[in-house]
Order: sequence, then structure tokens, then C-alpha cells
Amino acid sequence: MTALNGTWRNWARTESVKPVRIERPDSIGAVQRAVRGAARAGLRVKAVGAGHSFTGIAVATGVLLELDELTGIVSVDRERQRVTLLGGTRLFDLPRLLRPHGLAMANMGDIDRQSISGAISTGTHGTGAQFGGISTQVTGLTLVTADGELLHIDESENAELLPAAALGLGALGIIVEVTLQCVPAFVLEAVERPLPLDGVLERLDAHVGDNDHFEFYWFPGTRTAVTKTNTRADASVARRPLPALRAFVDDTLMANGVYRVTCAAGAMVPALVPGVNALADKLWSNREFSDHSHRVFTTKRTVRFREMEYALPAADVPVVLGRIDQLIRERGWRISFPVEVRFAQADELWLSTASGRASGYIAVHRYFRENHTEYFEAVEEIMTEHQGRPHWGKLHTRDAADLAALYPRHGDFVALRDRLDPERTFGNAYLDRVLGA
Ligand SMILES: Cc1cc2nc3c(=O)[nH]c(=O)nc-3n(C[C@H](O)[C@H](O)[C@H](O)COP(=O)(O)OP(=O)(O)OC[C@H]3O[C@@H](n4cnc5c(N)ncnc54)[C@H](O)[C@@H]3O)c2cc1C
Repeated sequence: MTALNGTWRNWARTESVKPVRIERPDSIGAVQRAVRGAARAGLRVKAVGAGHSFTGIAVATGVLLELDELTGIVSVDRERQRVTLLGGTRLFDLPRLLRPHGLAMANMGDIDRQSISGAISTGTHGTGAQFGGISTQVTGLTLVTADGELLHIDESENAELLPAAALGLGALGIIVEVTLQCVPAFVLEAVERPLPLDGVLERLDAHVGDNDHFEFYWFPGTRTAVTKTNTRADASVARRPLPALRAFVDDTLMANGVYRVTCAAGAMVPALVPGVNALADKLWSNREFSDHSHRVFTTKRTVRFREMEYALPAADVPVVLGRIDQLIRERGWRISFPVEVRFAQADELWLSTASGRASGYIAVHRYFRENHTEYFEAVEEIMTEHQGRPHWGKLHTRDAADLAALYPRHGDFVALRDRLDPERTFGNAYLDRVLGA
């Protein structure tokens, strides 16, 4: 994400910055020296992961730390199925690292490009009414705090800080180690079907409650939900992976290659969009297969887009989706990207979008060459009326006062930040907005 001229850009091309300097520490000691050096120079310091946040949460104006030299497994607790990773480890490396131990991540989001620290710092999640986001898999972590010291947090040391630090927005320190509660490796049996949207919404509780992992995409202007239902099975069951050609045609050619061309065409000639959407919901996924969990959870996303996602009380999903449909029809917008709907169980993390409530997630997207502002602002108004909480890594306009009303522990998190980082060594403009300056 950092170009040769020293400018860092995020994946969505919504943020760019030329930091004072970029450092690539290759040990925990080097991270400590980098933080102390930045503090001495009066510079702010921030680690970035894969730059896959759409918001400015990862923007580092002073010292930018790239942790790509700080990756891999530190230790494995086989009995408790826990794995401690260095903070820069990318999710796509985990299957290779966990396989020898017969372990896997319990749940994943749509892609695997992120670093483990970046993913947990923004509350990255997948879907499943009995599963939480990736931060809920964290049983411990080690931070380099603003004074350059190490702070270990787990069930036996500083345990009271875990629900804050496991989803810490990069505001409390540099994460150098993360311990994940893993599960025995498993297979996912995937059924992907286009179904009538109204029927899916009528039977939503059953779809979500009776299946391990249920989600759907809805292309505005159509009445079809492209559903994905994944069922967990023992690692020993025979897998039926997609044949390589089918996987290439579906995921590389259709879902990304052809889609890129149609989105670009739709951006130039919006009148094409309804036809493209009607086609897309037919072309997208009508298939059954089974494979190692990570191969089913994650896909490739090469068509660049902008995204806003809100967590809502799960029961509000049908009515909110109906309001978004009505909004798009009233305004006559031609939206070429689908709306994605997912679910998660309630958790106890202070800043988790699912904190204290079972949640439904609704995400809206726009192709990156189109202006997303009007669409996202209007959808955000609807989300706000339903006590929606914005994903920390996806576009939104909410500030600290709004968020304090949505999160009972927001004030506690701000107080912890004041204690651990009084000089705002890890601060940036985004954190000032969502936590207060
Ligand atoms: C194509 C695409 C698909 C996506 N799919 C999903 C999805 O399915 N579900 C979902 O919930 N989200 C999804 N996201 C959002 C994404 O998962 C989050 O924004 C995530 O934070 C990105 O991880 P990253 O490694 O790129 O972190 P970055 O964006 O680089 O950083 C995010 C935050 O983590 C902090 N950070 C990074 N490393 C450290 C560290 N070592 N110590 C302290 N702080 C650190 C950064 O400072 C920043 O505050 C998607 C994004 C894209 C672009």
C-alpha cells in the first residue's frame, strides 16, 4: 500500500498520506524503539495492516509502522487450541500456519487480505447467529504502549482490559502479539441459491437461526436474494471442492472480471444498471460445494468499491432493507453494487458493533469511480433511526457524541485511552472524531 515515493494509500483509495517516515520493525524490541523514537521526536505513530479500512482509521501522519516482518506463530497451546501470533500476521497465512496443528479460525469475514491486528482493531466480522466477530476469538494480546513498554493482557494478567483491547481501534498501543482461540479444523458445506427476496425476509429467523452461517446479497432493483448458507462439518467428511475451472469462471471471471467491466459501464451509462443487476443476480452463484472452512468463508475481491456497513438490532433487518429499497426507488438511483446482509451473536466487547445485542449487518457499496456520498448519507439516516452502529473500518460520518449514546462502554474506553495514551501518540483525525480529541 506504500508507493515508492513514500505515500500510503488505502485499498479503496479514500485515504492517502505521506508520513514523516516509514519503519518496518522486525522484532518486538524494534517496535518498542520505534514508539520511543517517535515520542522523543514529538511524532505520532501508527501501525497499519493491509490498508483495507475504508475510513481514515489507519492514517499515520508521523511514523507509519509496517509490520510485514513481524509475522508467524509465537506459540501453540494444543490442549486449549490457542495460537499466539505476531501482530503483523496476515489472515491468508493462517491456514498454512494452523494446518500442522489441526486448527482453524472459528469464523472469518469475506476476504483474508487483512492482518490479524488490523482485522480485530476494527471489529471485522463474518456471519452466523451463534458466532461473533474475529475479536471475540481473542483470548490475549501484547501491546507496546505509548511509553514503549509491553502490556500483556489475558485472563490472568490485566484481564479487565481484554474486552477493550481486543477491539481497540489502534488507539491503545501497537499490537505485537495476539492469542486466538481456535477450533479443530472443519469443512464447510456451502449452498448458494438465488431465492425470492420477500420469501427470504419472511422466513429470515429460520434462515439465520437454523443454519451455522447465513447471509445474502440483494441487487437493488431486483426482487432476488442471492443466499449463501454454510454448514459446518467434521474435517474428516469427503470434500467436494468446486472444480478449478468452475471456481475460476465463477469467482475470477464473473464475480470480478466481468463484474468490473459491467460496473465501469454502469458508471458511464447509469441506464445500463438495472439490466446489469437483473443479469448479475442470475449469474451469481447457484451452486453447492464443500471445502476447508477458509476456502468457503473467503473470496477474492478485485473490483474496487466503497462501503458503509451498520450493525442493527437483528430483528430490524427486514424493515430497514425495505426502507433502503424504497429510498433507492424514490430517488431513481441506479446502484450497480449489491447490498450485503449478515448476522452475529451478541458479545461483551466494549466497542464491538454487536456489543450487548444480537446483530444484523447491512452493508451498502458503490463502485469506486462513482460518487457514493448521497446514497451513503441517506442510508445512514435510516440506520441512525434504528440505533445502528457503524463498522469502525467502513465509511460513516458519526462522531464521539453519537457513538457515546450507542455504546454503553464508550466512556470507559475513552478513559482507558486517556490513561494509556494521554499524549495521543497513537492518535489521528479519525480517532479524534470517534473518541474525542
Ligand atoms: C475488499 C474488502 C472486504 C472486506 N470484508 C470485510 C468483511 O467481510 N467483514 C468485515 O467486518 N470487514 C471487512 N472489510 C473491512 C476490513 O476487514 C477492516 O477494515 C480491517 O480493519 C482491515 O484490516 P487491515 O489489516 O487492512 O487494517 P488497516 O485498515 O490497515 O488498519 C485498521 C486499524 O488497525 C490498526 N492496526 C493495524 N495493525 C495494528 C497493530 N499491529 N497494532 C495496533 N493497531 C493496528 C490500524 O492502525 C487501524 O486503526 C473489508 C474491506 C475490504 C477492502
